[in-house]
Amino acid sequence: MKANIVLLPGDGIGVEVVAETRATLDAVAAQFGHSFSYSEHLIGGCAIDATGTALTQETLDACRAADAVLLGAVGGPKWDNPSASVRPEQGLLALRQGLGLYANLRPIRLFPELIQASPLKAERLADVDILVVRELTGGLYFGKPRIREEVNGRRRAVDTLEYTDEEIQRVVELAFRLASSRRRLVTSVDKANVLESSRLWRTVATEVAARHPEIRIEHQLVDSCAMRLITSAAAFDVIVTENMFGDILTDEAAVLAGSLGLCPSASLGDGTRGVYEPIHGSAPDIAGKGIANPIGTILSAAMLLRHSLRLDKEAAVLERAVAQAIAGGARTADLGGKLSTQGMGAAVRAKLAG
Ligand code: ATP
Ligand code: MG
Repeated sequence: MKANIVLLPGDGIGVEVVAETRATLDAVAAQFGHSFSYSEHLIGGCAIDATGTALTQETLDACRAADAVLLGAVGGPKWDNPSASVRPEQGLLALRQGLGLYANLRPIRLFPELIQASPLKAERLADVDILVVRELTGGLYFGKPRIREEVNGRRRAVDTLEYTDEEIQRVVELAFRLASSRRRLVTSVDKANVLESSRLWRTVATEVAARHPEIRIEHQLVDSCAMRLITSAAAFDVIVTENMFGDILTDEAAVLAGSLGLCPSASLGDGTRGVYEPIHGSAPDIAGKGIANPIGTILSAAMLLRHSLRLDKEAAVLERAVAQAIAGGARTADLGGKLSTQGMGAAVRAKLAG
């Protein structure tokens, strides 16, 4: 098949890991007889330097016209001034909103050979295979009113946690669709004992579940979910939750995997459109040294193959190549090894055909 992929390397190590992932996607394409064409655009700090804004309309239009978007990372100390009117992260928000991406997927899997890198030592870590689906465009981070004021010498601030049934329904529905090709368990996470928005969440999640009798649903309070991720992570399959709970739980779940450099993500909306990126940031401390681990981005590309291009087999082959490279001892510095970014990419590509 032919596919048109927009690359947004961004800042710092984003540039290095996206270049390595492109080479790996090309190897997949060559092996299966596909033709991927790429166009590269600016996002984040480099876009601010070049254009004065973190994401231009032209770049957004290119992303809308593409089959999928692969992103590196944005930001860095150069653009860290909190009082600046334009910030690199605005590029990500504009991209998600512009493409209507309301769900963020983070798979959490452990490579058996890297279990010692996980902060948890339990034997069942090898069985951990979780997909967290975080609502991305609603909730506390976007609700209005949003107030910061001083009244009669007292400072006061307000944030608003708001969800409509439609916003809840579409992300929970996506979680159920994803669970149908996994272990068929959805854990819907809320704080329904305290929050009205969580009571609506639970009601709507229950309605969605009724349309999917073949999939089990369990409701869990977010505090207890945070605990169970540490004590019994292997019990989870798909976790679906609102924006802020998901923000916190996905960072917690990511440390189970051992290194930030290993974890992929996908942001999806309706249809097959998506933005795929590693969960790590621009890592200014190692940028430009050629030592960043590209695996998080390569696994993000596997998600791109699966969700945007519907190339399930190719995605599985790429994921297996990553697992085999790691099983064969391929390690970048974050995993205690000596391989460069390119060395790690080459180790994955060497396993592709095999
Ligand atoms: P952001 O604010 O953009 O999320 P951050 O400071 O929270 O950034 P990262 O930029 O992801 O986090 O870096 C956190 C630490 O993890 C740094 O020490 C960085 O070098 C390391 N790190 C992140 N990604 C990788 C990678 N792909 N390979 C190796 N080390 C990495
Ligand atoms: Mg961070």
